[in-house]
Amino acid sequence: MTGQRIGVYGGTFDPVHIGHLAIAEEVRYALRLDQVLFVPAAHQPLKGHAPGATPLQRLEMVRLACASNPAFAVSDLELRRPPPSYTRDTLVSLRQHLPPTSDLTLIIGADAARDLPRWYRVHEILRMVYLVIVARPDHPFDLAELETRLPGVSLRTTLVDGPRLAVSSTDLRLRLATHRPTRCQIPDAVLGYIRHHGLYLRDALA
Ligand code: ATP
Repeated sequence: MTGQRIGVYGGTFDPVHIGHLAIAEEVRYALRLDQVLFVPAAHQPLKGHAPGATPLQRLEMVRLACASNPAFAVSDLELRRPPPSYTRDTLVSLRQHLPPTSDLTLIIGADAARDLPRWYRVHEILRMVYLVIVARPDHPFDLAELETRLPGVSLRTTLVDGPRLAVSSTDLRLRLATHRPTRCQIPDAVLGYIRHHGLYLRDALA
């Protein structure tokens, strides 16, 4: 029996937006994945800002965003561990719970990919999974340059070019805090959740 082809998509998702959903769907299609597993981080070690929503609220928003796509699933694995959320630990854990024939592909945006050489035990990560690096507007990316800092990475990497949506959680937190439009950039169900819980109104500019 052949195993499932699973995309692992980690992030802060503070909040989840259409950029996240669109690239997950693009990668699923391009690599013929059976599933994309969204894994909200308790805390991302390389991110400076404190998240605006609680970890459980971010998880709930990702669940709402993924509910209508049967190929999307959400894992609370990182939220059940004490932070920081190291991807290497997540992948080890997933490997232990999945059939050995499962194929794991790690999905990351171009901005996050530039930081890869600083990731915790990155060489172990490269041995465990294939990488998909997705283009992102305003974040030029050069795989040959990354290869000079992380030899071997290009052999394990597929580049996916688009859809290039200039949407970011940082901009959306600012928009929410200043009552500017966010509709069509955040799924309706997630926006309803944000409004209901009064999220991102005060601390977003911090
Ligand atoms: P923030 O603005 O708070 O840094 P973000 O919009 O980058 O947040 P994250 O949750 O940090 O969202 O992103 C998770 C992953 O998705 C990262 O690998 C990031 O590079 C990627 N990503 C996020 N938005 C996009 C986008 N619009 N296009 C391509 N990749 C994206």
